[in-house]
Amino acid sequence: MTRPGGTWQNWGRSASVRPHRVEFPRTVEAVQRSIAAAAASGLRVKAVGAGHSFTGIAVAPGVLLDLTDLSGLVRVDRDRSRVTLLAGTRLHQIPHLLAPFGLAMENLGDIDRQSISGAISTGTHGTGARFGGVSTQVVGATLVTASGDLLTVSETENAEMLPAVALGLGALGILVDVTVQCVPAFVLHAVEHPEDLGEVLDGLDQRVAECDHFEFYWFPHTDRAMTKSNTRLPESAPRHPLAPIGKWVDDTLVGSGLHQIACSVEKVVPALIPPINRLSVKIWGDREFTDASTRVFTTSRTVRFREMEYAVPAENVRPAFEALQALIDERGWRIGFPVEVRFAAADDRWMSTAHGRASGYIAVHRYWREDPTEYFEAVEQIMLSYGGRPHWGKMHTLDAAILRERYPRFDDFVALRDRLDPGRMFQNAYLERVLGG
Ligand SMILES: Cc1cc2nc3c(=O)[nH]c(=O)nc-3n(C[C@H](O)[C@H](O)[C@H](O)COP(=O)(O)OP(=O)(O)OC[C@H]3O[C@@H](n4cnc5c(N)ncnc54)[C@H](O)[C@@H]3O)c2cc1C
Repeated sequence: MTRPGGTWQNWGRSASVRPHRVEFPRTVEAVQRSIAAAAASGLRVKAVGAGHSFTGIAVAPGVLLDLTDLSGLVRVDRDRSRVTLLAGTRLHQIPHLLAPFGLAMENLGDIDRQSISGAISTGTHGTGARFGGVSTQVVGATLVTASGDLLTVSETENAEMLPAVALGLGALGILVDVTVQCVPAFVLHAVEHPEDLGEVLDGLDQRVAECDHFEFYWFPHTDRAMTKSNTRLPESAPRHPLAPIGKWVDDTLVGSGLHQIACSVEKVVPALIPPINRLSVKIWGDREFTDASTRVFTTSRTVRFREMEYAVPAENVRPAFEALQALIDERGWRIGFPVEVRFAAADDRWMSTAHGRASGYIAVHRYWREDPTEYFEAVEQIMLSYGGRPHWGKMHTLDAAILRERYPRFDDFVALRDRLDPGRMFQNAYLERVLGG
């Protein structure tokens, strides 16, 4: 978000910049004009979505393109259940746009505040061992490249670029539209409850394989896991949504309110964290409901935090998770935020954290007013030792030298960037670090 005085900052308050100027293009031609004008004055350009990345990936010191006004539906291919969306469309706008056509997005992450372009550009994912991240739903896109030209990429046009453009880190050009392969609208039956952590870990492989969308949260200093198991049902299945008041009590009053208290005392009286975590597990989320897919996949996050998330090969989730547990015990830290564990299918996106391997995601969080460095860096070492790849939009310390070894198509991606953006019109400090200059 851009504040009065012209300073932009991200949701997690971990990145900020005062751009040279901010522009709000409403059309594709206006994006082209912005790039031409920036080039003429020697400025770099960066499109920004909802600013929900924790890394500096969206930092735009030159021209910040806010694409909020470039949103909505461009066209629908009813026969193939595909929709083309303008690049600034926010995920929370999409269900309404798809409803008249009986369509839905196949899988989503925890929230829906992001733009479609921001979500795909950083490899945003949800959970489900048979499902990929949001970028795997992309079957086409149009970019404005550094030359100001339009580049169309699809399964039939420039098809070889699709696995790069669909998860392009904002490095290849400005996306102006994105075509998404949708699925018939569906509902999800959600079962959420606290369980014994040891039992969850013992049965993990089977549950991940059998359930459409399985994940769990572990509150440090407890031996309990909050599990979430979502099963896909046809749209005609009877719905039993959460009553609004029950949802508010669970998500806002208990989920966020108690959590806010935990975060506030964390710094002052860290000894209170373990009992608060135990209380959270006791009173949070023993529930079952059935509702439209997007209403189940996504929730709201009212407590501000910072996050690091690593993808490891699925078979390494358990040992990596147990090493993280041991680390927290050894160091004597008091951690109020839960650790989240999710899963995804292998995919072919060159820069995807799940490229070529079935993956598990382990995410750690810290309240935004606390310094996460010591915790995150120690967790990062563990994740790296288990073959980890960091989420592009979440905090990490890796650079191009080490990332190159972890992505088989890294050099192909960099070569494509060299072709599409030889003068580094879309570069910023983060991209320089992770891709090289
Ligand atoms: C509360 C919260 C919950 C989250 N939950 C999840 C989750 O469940 N799963 C998950 O994987 N991640 C999650 N994230 C991370 C988030 O999904 C990603 O960081 C995502 O990129 C944010 O989207 P955005 O629209 O805010 O993009 P931004 O952060 O604004 O931008 C991200 C990147 O996209 C580029 N970009 C944006 N628009 C364009 C465009 N038109 N053309 C080219 N490049 C563009 C930017 O330049 C930048 O490189 C969460 C983050 C927060 C804060």
